[in-house]
Amino acid sequence: MKPVSGRFDVAVIGGGSAGLAAAVTAARQGARTLLIERHGCLGGMGTAALVHTFCGLYLLRDEAGAVIANPGFSGEIAARMIEATGIGPVRMGRLDVLPQHPVEFVRIADDLIAAEPLIELRLHSEVAGISRDADAWEIHLLGREGVRRVCARIIVDASGDAVVAAFLGGDFAISPPVSLQRPAYVFGVRGPCVLDDEARLKTAGLLVDGVRSGDLPPDSMGITFRSSGRAGEVFGSLDLAGGPTTAGFDPLDAACLGALETHGRAVAAKVVRWLAGHSELWRGAYISHWPVRAGIRESRRWIGQYTLTGADVAAGRRFEDEIALATWPMEFRETAKGPKLRFPAENRAVGIPQRCLVPAGIDHLFVAGRCISTDHEAQASIRVMGTCFATGEAAGRAAASA
Ligand SMILES: Cc1cc2nc3c(=O)[nH]c(=O)nc-3n(C[C@H](O)[C@H](O)[C@H](O)COP(=O)(O)OP(=O)(O)OC[C@H]3O[C@@H](n4cnc5c(N)ncnc54)[C@H](O)[C@@H]3O)c2cc1C
Repeated sequence: MKPVSGRFDVAVIGGGSAGLAAAVTAARQGARTLLIERHGCLGGMGTAALVHTFCGLYLLRDEAGAVIANPGFSGEIAARMIEATGIGPVRMGRLDVLPQHPVEFVRIADDLIAAEPLIELRLHSEVAGISRDADAWEIHLLGREGVRRVCARIIVDASGDAVVAAFLGGDFAISPPVSLQRPAYVFGVRGPCVLDDEARLKTAGLLVDGVRSGDLPPDSMGITFRSSGRAGEVFGSLDLAGGPTTAGFDPLDAACLGALETHGRAVAAKVVRWLAGHSELWRGAYISHWPVRAGIRESRRWIGQYTLTGADVAAGRRFEDEIALATWPMEFRETAKGPKLRFPAENRAVGIPQRCLVPAGIDHLFVAGRCISTDHEAQASIRVMGTCFATGEAAGRAAASA
């Protein structure tokens, strides 16, 4: 193993929405910060899996007009995205969402990191193990050059999968395979110039015809298309059962993930080719890009000093030590048949206590993003990127001051 190559105040593991927010915030508080990401860009699911809408940025309201729920890093990202895409918040019933473009998200993340001299960014580096001596964590980083060790006084686990819990034997929970939120495969299509509601409805009808006639596999019914906001560019999202049977879905198993991706590509390619040959609207359409990875909504969740519950979210409970508000309704996707939303009473936002970011029984460690301490139901609300920015910011602040 190569010798220790650095000593940091804070190491953030994972550069998704939560890790980006945590690293930038920790550095702005004066902490020498290492941000570690195994892919070649930041953004996590919002870039590598092509998830293209920021949810949870705004308060849930009957009145029109989007109001940022967690000013600070979330507001900053929203403003930068609106400037980059020229598209503002979109109203969907009581919800406001911000369409985001993964291409812009990657670049915005680069700009944010470049502006922080106290951040050292390590891309193409996977944390492969962690241990602790008297006053620091030792992190084993696997890269092209081999394994390196770096030291940090505080760690933020923003890996989405709570990998630090697995390395340390910390307490975590994971839902049974049949109730885990289903995965999805999102891909880019060079498609119709305009994909309005009427065209989307027509496309859904075409897919039903294709499946009924036996031309398309049944999974094709799980595809929805949405315009990216750029002329002729569309994102397709294919909801998947997770394996040959729902019980066989394991979001932490490499073989399962690989099979999902191969299957996602096969179905998407068949559908787009079929649409191009069967509809004037889709004539000439082709798949323009694949994601780096399949989209995973839920895997391990840390067990922290407090576990936020579905009952807390439904009641819009508030806490003395809350560090952010979660405003997205609980969005259940336990089947590949589309979402079921459960809204909180009177549009209330739920507070997220700082204790959800602190693993039970382990010091010098904070958690951020979709793997903070919640039950399965509350995770269905807090996993959205708007909320991940906010828990990331709070974890970065706590880590810098710890
Ligand atoms: C199909 C799908 C649709 C969704 N739709 C929406 C939506 O419309 N709006 C919305 O707001 N949210 C949506 N979500 C949820 C949201 O995208 C995620 O929950 C959120 O992005 C999670 O952010 P995170 O930072 O916690 O984790 P991630 O985005 O998963 O980031 C974790 C990062 O850690 C890195 N990492 C992991 N392990 C290691 C390691 N050992 N070493 C180094 N790096 C590591 C990963 O490569 C990754 O970049 C959707 C999710 C999916 C899957």
